[in-house]
Amino acid sequence: MPELPEVELVRRALEKEVEGASIEAVAFSDFVNKGHATSRKTIIKQDLDTFRSNVSGATIRKVGRRGKYLYFIMEKSDEIFHMVSHLGMSGAFFVTDSIEAIADRNYRKHWQVAFRLEDGRTLSYCDIRRFGEMLTVGRMGDFPPFERMAVEYTHPDSLVDFIDRARAPANRNKAIKAVIMDSAVIPGVGNIYASEALFTSGILPTRKAGNISVKRLMALHKAIADVFDLSIENGGSTISDYRGVSGEKGSMQDRFHIYQKKSCSSCGGPVKTKTIATRNTFYCTKCQR
Ligand SMILES: [Zn+2]
Repeated sequence: MPELPEVELVRRALEKEVEGASIEAVAFSDFVNKGHATSRKTIIKQDLDTFRSNVSGATIRKVGRRGKYLYFIMEKSDEIFHMVSHLGMSGAFFVTDSIEAIADRNYRKHWQVAFRLEDGRTLSYCDIRRFGEMLTVGRMGDFPPFERMAVEYTHPDSLVDFIDRARAPANRNKAIKAVIMDSAVIPGVGNIYASEALFTSGILPTRKAGNISVKRLMALHKAIADVFDLSIENGGSTISDYRGVSGEKGSMQDRFHIYQKKSCSSCGGPVKTKTIATRNTFYCTKCQR
């Protein structure tokens, strides 16, 4: 599943390609149409006709990111609204001359939403496993996940916000790994970067958040920010299905210290694994406490 760095890379690529572009029409795949016919709301989390009439004729003014969500600021007849998108497990955007021009066959086969742009290009959302989400909202605050989300790690207040939220009474008895994967504490941390940041800051993923000193939480915040920055610099991690807008793979996976490792990159001891917050967690009991 793409985490913050991978989504940020998609945002940067889309920004170059589609900011200022106007949407002429939108098409949905058979999967989306069939899902909606049986009220499963596949990908588009609102009525298809509403989505279509909102985005048709709109101009994309800005491509932004909040946590693992992308948002497009749209303008239409002097009104502003937002199109929010989550890549789910395996979503990807492509900007090509047509759907047929998407180089990767597997993605091409699994296009779900295709926006025909006025300049003749197509912005396609492809999703093999179809866990992605897309919808339009009037204000950003109208979308519940944004309402409770902590500030972005790049924001000057992120450190104080993070420490405050991590030490909230409700988190006191929770494993720190589960706490940092909550976007209400810090947005964008998924399973991979949680393991990496906890390793770098020397904190056991199972440790209760209430038993971690402020000094160590500060180190953890820095580790999260550093691993996000490093991953963005290295094109993100390509573990399974993630691809950039041009279909490229990242190389961050070659820089992991602990995630999916057999032996600890620091002491050489065996890497332990355990399911925390429903996902497999990697750690070293010698280097993390
Ligand atoms: Zn170790």
